[in-house]
Amino acid sequence: MKNSKIRAIVILFFSVFLAAVAGRDFLRMRQPEPIYPGQGISEKKMLSDYFSPLRGTNGDTEVYFFEGENPGATVLILGGTHPNEPAGFITAICLIERAQVQAGRLIVIPRANNSAFSHNDPQEANPQRFFIPTPHGMRWFRFGSRNTNPIDQWPDPEVYRHFPSGQKLSGGETRNLNRSYPGKPDGSLTEKVAFAIMELLRKEKVDLAFDLHEASLEYPVINAIVAHNRRRNIFAVSPIANGAIN
Ligand SMILES: [Zn+2]
Repeated sequence: MKNSKIRAIVILFFSVFLAAVAGRDFLRMRQPEPIYPGQGISEKKMLSDYFSPLRGTNGDTEVYFFEGENPGATVLILGGTHPNEPAGFITAICLIERAQVQAGRLIVIPRANNSAFSHNDPQEANPQRFFIPTPHGMRWFRFGSRNTNPIDQWPDPEVYRHFPSGQKLSGGETRNLNRSYPGKPDGSLTEKVAFAIMELLRKEKVDLAFDLHEASLEYPVINAIVAHNRRRNIFAVSPIANGAIN
């Protein structure tokens, strides 16, 4: 056999090997990290229970409920709007595993943008997962992307026009859940997820909602709260606004 043929066969096998390794890692990111719901949970639903077109898509996600014995307000906590900001979704998971509600209702969505957990950002050298030692063994969590997986929503427009404000943003922001509210029932997958979360807010009569984030890597925004102008009175009583956390 000629040398060139041998070289071609070796390169072919090496390419198939590399594709198999990369493909296995890519598929592995579709596997959710385990959550161990605590005794305080009263019910578990799916986001598609509020907007059925999400059922069977990678935008569907788990919703956990805690019902207090006494009447009170309903609070929604969102984690994982940006899965490259682990503090947000780990806080939500800690609540699911530990919270005990005495009055009112607590609703927790740990992976608000479920699709964005299934990949991470190219050329950022981010890990696909990270590990935290606990007294009960090592836990692992995915380190996802800021945006919906292009496998679930593609292609991006050159310019993303936010609905309904008409604000123009760069095309990639069309997959950013945090730029998609109030969402659209006939929009992109990301807009459908935003619409489903709004439906949950309406149907469950949520009084107060928190969307948990973290300063992403190399982005020095810390101890920041974004509050609507009409709700500056609520922001003003928060610990960060009062300097209790720094
Ligand atoms: Zn964020």
